[in-house]
Amino acid sequence: MHSRIFEQIMSTENKFKVIVLGERNVGKSTIITRFMYDNFDHVYKATVGIDFLIKAVSLDNSSVRLQIWDTAGQERFRSLIPSYVRDSSAAIVVYDVNNRRSFQQISMWINELRTQLSMDVVIMLVGNKTDLTNEREVETAEGQDKANELNVMFMETSAKNSNDIKGLFQRMAMALNFKANSMPR
Ligand code: GDP
Ligand code: MG
Repeated sequence: MHSRIFEQIMSTENKFKVIVLGERNVGKSTIITRFMYDNFDHVYKATVGIDFLIKAVSLDNSSVRLQIWDTAGQERFRSLIPSYVRDSSAAIVVYDVNNRRSFQQISMWINELRTQLSMDVVIMLVGNKTDLTNEREVETAEGQDKANELNVMFMETSAKNSNDIKGLFQRMAMALNFKANSMPR
């Protein structure tokens, strides 16, 4: 009985809302669907208008549930709807490494996020579409420099090839778990 209650408490504590932001067409919905349906070979059409999806990520001696929110198209307006941002623990901010304009908007998204939420929200900057090697406009080092400047984590991914998509959410889960465990109760 006790252990059951304990489990329930643990399960609510280990759930985090993660929002995915960035310009249109950078691959946000594809990253989410890749992560959710990793076992399938066929390419999923990115869902339009979904609210959120929940998936558990296993860590060494615990499990973290990520509640992942797609933008449902609000990136068109270049501003975040407060109800979407509310209660988020973390954000994944995505640009397309083949599209410099999408990279130039990164500071704008991160500043807006920190203004609306708090300065200590966990943020991962992601350069996506690394599979299009001939078209690259933003080098890895530039992405890393930007991440250092803004004090956020950094990764490059290919949602098309599923490259580092699992690692992305694994790192996010670890960071959130670490932060939750180091917070004073
Ligand atoms: P969103 O607007 O940010 O949600 O972008 P989508 O997930 O809808 O993706 C926009 C387009 O980019 C779609 O045609 C995707 O198939 C494509 N795409 C997404 N990720 C990748 C990737 O890693 N590599 C390549 N080559 N295309 C991608
Ligand atoms: Mg989308």
